[in-house]
Amino acid sequence: MTNLRIFSIAFVPLLNNWIVCYCFPRHPSQKLKTMVYVIRKEHFNAAHRLFNPAWSEEKNQEVFGLCANNNWHGHNFELIVTVKGNPDPDTGFVFDLKTLGDLIKKEIIDKVDHKNLNLDVDFMEGKLASCEILIMEFWKILAPQITAYSKTATLHKLHLIETNKNSVEYYGE
Ligand SMILES: [Zn+2]
Repeated sequence: MTNLRIFSIAFVPLLNNWIVCYCFPRHPSQKLKTMVYVIRKEHFNAAHRLFNPAWSEEKNQEVFGLCANNNWHGHNFELIVTVKGNPDPDTGFVFDLKTLGDLIKKEIIDKVDHKNLNLDVDFMEGKLASCEILIMEFWKILAPQITAYSKTATLHKLHLIETNKNSVEYYGE
């Protein structure tokens, strides 16, 4: 993108003389709307087991190790939701964060908190209970809810933290 400004020239009659007017359009960058990102963090506890039913017990142990434990294991998950949009001229908000928190709680947290992800969660039925699969399912639920609530804001990113060392991000791509 060039920074060159294109201007037009007009000759305007004034008191029997012609004057030259230069009309400068706005710089292209000025036409871009401001994009602001707002972030809400929620928390849940859940149990799961990494296990591929198509594999033998030995193969599952080999690939997933402790995560394939027959009697499950649990995590304290953090779900960080980023919504992007233009601040509303009346409120200054991209998306009311209290509303966003309520939406995440109703649509996600209430369905997974203190649950077994393999057994208790309908949208995980028949799926591998990895963080990658989980975060994609969260996106499918949350993205349309956010656009239904706001004409200008959209879901930008989900960040699911499983442990201090391990987390996944998803941008809906
Ligand atoms: Zn785990």
